Amino acid sequence: LPRVLSGIQPTADSFHLGNYVGALRQWVSMQEDHDAFYCVVDLHAITLEQPDPAVLRQRTLVSAAQLIALGVDPARSTLFVQSQVPEHAQLAWVLQCLTGFGEASRMTQFKDKSTREGAGPTSVGLFTYPVLQAADILLYQAHRVPVGEDQRQHLELTRDLAGRFNGRYGETFTVPEAYIPAGAAKILDLQSPDKKMSKSLPPAGCVNLLDDPKVTAKKIRSAVTDTGREVVADPEGKPGVTNLLTIHSAFSGQSTAQLEEHFAGRGYGDLKKELAEVVTEALAPVQQRTAELLADPAELERLLAGGAARAREVAGRTLAAVYERVGFLPPA
Ligand code: ATP
Ligand code: MG
Repeated sequence: LPRVLSGIQPTADSFHLGNYVGALRQWVSMQEDHDAFYCVVDLHAITLEQPDPAVLRQRTLVSAAQLIALGVDPARSTLFVQSQVPEHAQLAWVLQCLTGFGEASRMTQFKDKSTREGAGPTSVGLFTYPVLQAADILLYQAHRVPVGEDQRQHLELTRDLAGRFNGRYGETFTVPEAYIPAGAAKILDLQSPDKKMSKSLPPAGCVNLLDDPKVTAKKIRSAVTDTGREVVADPEGKPGVTNLLTIHSAFSGQSTAQLEEHFAGRGYGDLKKELAEVVTEALAPVQQRTAELLADPAELERLLAGGAARAREVAGRTLAAVYERVGFLPPA
């Protein structure tokens, strides 16, 4: 089976619909035909200032619980927390020493995140973030990495670093391919449908998976729609309505064409009402399962420890080869 690696940051109390439709839904389906490694990337999370250590720890657990609740199966996939696999930080150091300063400076996400409003002081960690991401991927010899547009440049860097290391020290790393999984879609903010839904925008436009159903219904009801009254997909002319149809389709499994037919002769209000039902009904079992998992943190931590042990088997082999080739002494 092709191996896939993907990670998500534990930087919020809940994932949102964009995370789900754009990434996590594919995590679940990729388990069918991939050897999947999925991690909660807490080392990445501290590249921006985290408010409180206890909050970060809790968010890591909540993130893992949501992944399992959404259908990531820890028996089938290797689900782990990045900081519990020390090889990530260790390989990242070696790769940093292979990365040009100018090369790292060209990463646009650093520019975006370091200049974002309220971002706080900029750390060197934020600057080298893409190199840590390269380490995440290369440790597992992943063939495929699902990427949205925002991550394309980072994957290119990963490929360059893999090729550079292989060229200098001999074949060590699999050079990963970008993988666009079927059904991945970009979800727009409900209040500003010219921007992608994000936890960094005001909460009214961002539906969290763990939001109370009443809150979700209200956010959907208040979504900015477009002029006109026909429920049809038109990304240019009707970005707001199109976005609601995309979300509906992701949860109901109906195609846009089917939905247009379904809503023919009905207005935006009907679309929003039905969408709120579809979303809250689908999220109810996810919320319940997440709560159950969090009610027994010892068991959740045990599951994650199992994932970390499996991850370390693979990561440790790669790191040992790297250390040997670079010229470090054997383990003391
Ligand atoms: P930030 O604003 O801090 O970047 P975010 O809300 O964009 O946060 P990330 O943690 O960056 O969330 O994203 C995690 C995953 O979810 C990534 O794979 C990303 O591509 C995907 N993703 C995030 N937002 C969306 C969205 N609106 N539509 C589709 N995919 C998304
Ligand atoms: Mg993002």
